[in-house]
Amino acid sequence: MLSNRLLNITPSYTIDISSKVNKMINSGLDVINLSIGEPDFNVPYMAKLHGINSLNNNCTKYDIVAGLEILRSEISNKLNTENNCNYSPDEIVVSNGAKHAITNTLLAITNPNDEVLIPKPYWVSYGEMVKLVNAVPKFIDTKKQNKFKLTQYDLNNSITNNTKLLILNNPSNPTGSVYTKKELMNILDFCLKNNIYILSDEIYEQICFNEEFISIASLSKQAKDITITINGFSKSAAMTGLRLGYSASNKSIAKAINTIQGHLLSHPSQTSQYIAYGALKDCKKEIKTMVNEYKRRRDLITSKLNCLPYIDYIYPDGAFYVFVDISKLSGSFNTTNSFSIEFCNKFLSKYQVAIVPGIAFGMDNYVRISFSCSENLFLEGINRLNDFILKLM
Ligand code: PLP
Repeated sequence: MLSNRLLNITPSYTIDISSKVNKMINSGLDVINLSIGEPDFNVPYMAKLHGINSLNNNCTKYDIVAGLEILRSEISNKLNTENNCNYSPDEIVVSNGAKHAITNTLLAITNPNDEVLIPKPYWVSYGEMVKLVNAVPKFIDTKKQNKFKLTQYDLNNSITNNTKLLILNNPSNPTGSVYTKKELMNILDFCLKNNIYILSDEIYEQICFNEEFISIASLSKQAKDITITINGFSKSAAMTGLRLGYSASNKSIAKAINTIQGHLLSHPSQTSQYIAYGALKDCKKEIKTMVNEYKRRRDLITSKLNCLPYIDYIYPDGAFYVFVDISKLSGSFNTTNSFSIEFCNKFLSKYQVAIVPGIAFGMDNYVRISFSCSENLFLEGINRLNDFILKLM
C-alpha cells in the first residue's frame, strides 16, 4: 500500500537508540547516554533574546521562502569573513536544519538513478536520503591510515557515467577527522575533471580543535561553482530543536532549491531564524566557550581511552565523537548478525551505557562514543566500557 520508495529505507539507528534509552530511563534505570549527537549547552541568551523580541514584535507571518533578509546577509557575511567563501545573500537558502538543506539539495541536483558518492564511514542519513529521492548511493571505502579521509585514490574506481554528486562531511561525523587544504585540493581536482558536484556538509565547522578549518568552496571560483555548502546552527549554537540550517551554492542551484522549498515548506519558523541571526551576530564569545569545552573533553576522553585494552580509535580533530575500533573483541561474539549491534546491545543491557554501533556508519568493527555530554557521564561510561572489555576477554 505504501510507496516503493520506502522499501529499502532503514530507520535511523541513532533515533532508535535514543528511544530505547528513553524507555529504560522512564522505567527507572540509570542509563548513561553517549549515543546522542546533541550539545548539552543551552542556546546563548542573546540569541534567544532576538527570538523573544521578534515574537513581541509580531514577526509571525509568512515571509520570504529563502529566509529572512537580515539572516541571509549575516550568513553571507560569516561565509565571506570566516570561511573565505564568496556567497551573496541570494545564493543562500535557509531551511529546517542541515538535514532539510541536504534533502533540498538532493532534490535539486539528482535525477532518478543518478549515483551519489558517499565515503565510508558516513553519517547515518546520507544513504537513506539519497534513496528517498530515487537516486543511488555508492559507498566508497577509505583507509584507517588516512583517518578515513577520502583520497583521489579511493575515488578512482568509484565513478561511472551516472555519477552526479559527492557528499563530503568535514569535520566528519563519526570520525572527527578534518581535511587539510591539500587533501581538499585533490578531491576538488578529481570532481572538476569528472564533472561531479560536491555537497560539503560543514555542520561541525565551528567545532574544530587543531587543524585550521577550510571550506572546499573557498579554494577557487570553480570550486564554488560546483559546491553546495551545507551548514547550520544545531551543533555550533546548541540549537538542535530549533531546526535551522542553510545551503549556499551558485545562483542557479540556489534558485532551484528555493523553488523546491517554496512548495514543500515555504520557510522555517521566523522565531528560529531570528534566534539564528542573534547567534551569528551576538554570540561569538559564547560559541567559542562551548568549542573550548569540547576540546577539553576531547583531551580528557582520549587520554582515558588510551588506557583501555584491545581497542584503538581515530583521534578526533573536530566534532564531538570518538570512533573506536573494537575489531579485536569480535572473537568474543558468536553472532551471524551485526557484531557492533550485538556489542552495543550487550553493553547497554549489562552496563547501562548507550553508544552507537559502527554499522550505522557502514563499519561494523567500530562504535561511536559521543562527548557532547558532561565529563562525569562520559568518564563513568568509559570506566564501564573498560569493565565490559575485561569481562569479554
Ligand atoms: N549532518 C551531519 C554530519 C550531522 O551529524 C547532523 C546531525 O547529527 C546533521 C547533518 C543534521 O543537522 P541538523 O540538526 O541541522 O538537521
